[in-house]
This record gives sequence, structure tokens and C-alpha cells, in this order.
Amino acid sequence: MHDVVHLSGPVLAGPADLRPEAWIADGRITFRRPEAPPATTLRGWVLPGLVDAHCHVGLVPGGAPDDAAALAHARSEAAAGVLLVRDCGSPTDTRWLQARDDVPRLVRAGRHLARSRRYLRGLAHEVDPEDLMEAVVAQARAGDGWVKLVADWIDRDAGDLAPAFPPAVLREAVSAAHAEGARVTAHTFAEETIDHLIDAGIDCLEHATGLQERHLPRLAEAGIPIVPTLVNIATFPDIAAQGHAKFPRYAAHMRALWERRHERVAAAHDAGVRIYAGTDAGTVIAHGRIADEVAELAAAIGPAAAVDAACWAARGWLGAAGLAEGDPADAVVVREDPRADVGTLAAPLHVLRDGQRIAGAAEAAAV
Ligand SMILES: [Zn+2]
Repeated sequence: MHDVVHLSGPVLAGPADLRPEAWIADGRITFRRPEAPPATTLRGWVLPGLVDAHCHVGLVPGGAPDDAAALAHARSEAAAGVLLVRDCGSPTDTRWLQARDDVPRLVRAGRHLARSRRYLRGLAHEVDPEDLMEAVVAQARAGDGWVKLVADWIDRDAGDLAPAFPPAVLREAVSAAHAEGARVTAHTFAEETIDHLIDAGIDCLEHATGLQERHLPRLAEAGIPIVPTLVNIATFPDIAAQGHAKFPRYAAHMRALWERRHERVAAAHDAGVRIYAGTDAGTVIAHGRIADEVAELAAAIGPAAAVDAACWAARGWLGAAGLAEGDPADAVVVREDPRADVGTLAAPLHVLRDGQRIAGAAEAAAV
């Protein structure tokens, strides 16, 4: 038995479902005042725990860190108000983190799969096209219902971005994952890769910087979401500057993709494509930047849709509970209405998992 906690509210049970207050009893949300008086009152706007729909726990430049570093990644996400992570590929077996109750819940994709010598060294499991299907089946069994592919990368011979796998290979690989009951997502920067991935029956697109007008109705109709990872796309000008001397076409391509980033996400949103917030933390991006990603998304699609992309909608997509009566009290408390001021997400006052406070900037205010 835990003490009853009073959430003085307002409580955003849904993006447009505003409740004046709520309580936590036995680690669960209730909108009916419990008989026992609350031991604690937490003041502020309450919403379901945030979702980082694309990050990498237990991944650092060069590969796998030790368990202490993986735990620190998860704790940084929690400190930012994230209580659900979709891990988009990690060389570390992080299943032990799923047994802890002081870190975000973790949905793992196992190791990401890249084509041999076509990705950052040491991060992914690298395969030749003829071995992709077998590797996908293995990762489908190792992960929590997701498989992550690196579908394009710089082709040094061509001097530009290029698809990593032939379309027929992608189709077989996605079908094989589906037969295992897993969904497949793919890192993609280049335009034509998106055609191949949609044709293959992909379930989600990561980054999707190559998004064109022709893709939008197909993504909307098939219900294929994008996770734009705009805080990561912000690094494209640096990547372009580093590659410019040796690969000028690639550098120009990356710069052009960066320039259209907000326009592209806005067009996708207007076309009815689902968008979720992910930071891509794990190599160049530090963990705990979900508020920055929401702010970037807000610049493209407005604050209310941006918060939804990191909260209610993302939780629903990943099959997680929200804040309905009886749901686990995975909640974040912030100072203002985040739909009006997304900046308030940058400093969560309280971060609660199963009703227990695991992070937050404010001291718990006892009444
Ligand atoms: Zn990533």
C-alpha cells in the first residue's frame, strides 16, 4: 500500500480531455477521491509520461558502453519526463533495465541492422543483402516487437546518399519480420529509399528527411508514421561541412535536406501523416532532450500537435496506457499548460512512475 497522492491539476488525461484534479492510489490514477486522505499534494499540470520514440539506450560512439552508462542514459530520459522509450537499436542487451522501476519503460528493437561498411562503425549488426532476412528474424525474436534497419547511408563510390539494400531484399526482410509478429522501422535520409520502404510494407520511418509530396498520401493511407528526430537533423550542416571536401554532392544533399526540415514535417502533418517525437539520443545527441524535440516539432506543426506527438498519441501507438481511470500513474507534472507553452516541458516538477516519484526539479510539496 502506498500513500494516496493528490494531483491538484489540471490533469490532461487526453490532448483535449481536461480534468480538474486526480489522485494516485496504489500506484494508479483515479478521478474519484479516495477515502484515505492524501499524504502529499503535487501542484501543476499533469500529463501522461512523455515518450522518446527514437533513442538508443546503451549506445555510445563506437558501440556498447558498460551497464552504468546504459543506466545513466535511462535516468537522463526519466529526468526529462520520459517514461516510455522506444529504443531504436542498441548493441547492449538492456533487458535488465526492464526489471527496474526507477527508469522509463523500454520497448527494444534489439540491434539495428545495417549493410556491411555502410554505417557508423561498431553501432549496428552489419550484414550483406543476402543475409538480411535471417538477421531480421533473429532481431525480431530478440527485441520487443520492433526491428530497426539502416535503409540508406552515404555510398562513397557514388559520393552521395544511396539506398543500402535492393527493394526486393527489403520486401523479403519486412515480410519475414511480420511473420515473426514484429514491426519494422528504418533509418532513412534519401528520397528514393522512402519509395522502396513503403513498397516493402514498412511500419515506420525514422528521420524521413527525403520525404516528397508523392509519399504523403501513401503514408497517410497506410498509417505509416514518421519520427523526424529534428534535434538530430540539426546536426546536418556540421556533417555537410565535414564531408564537403571529399563528397561535395553528399554535402549539398545533406544541407538541402536540413533546409526543408520544418516545411517537410508541416506538409506531412497537413496530409494526415502521423508524427511522433524522438530525439535519436545515443551517439551525437545527449539523452534527455525530449523537450527540445517537442519545441522543434512545435515550430513545424504547432504546440498542441507537438505535445501530442510526445505524449498521448505516441503512447497509444506503442500500446501504452495514458491517464484513464485505473491506469498506472506514469505521469509528469509541469508548471504550465504545455499545449500553450511547450517550454514548460524542459523542467518537469515531478516525474512519477507507478505513482512513485523518480525525478523532477521541485521538492515534493507536502500539505
Ligand atoms: Zn537513431
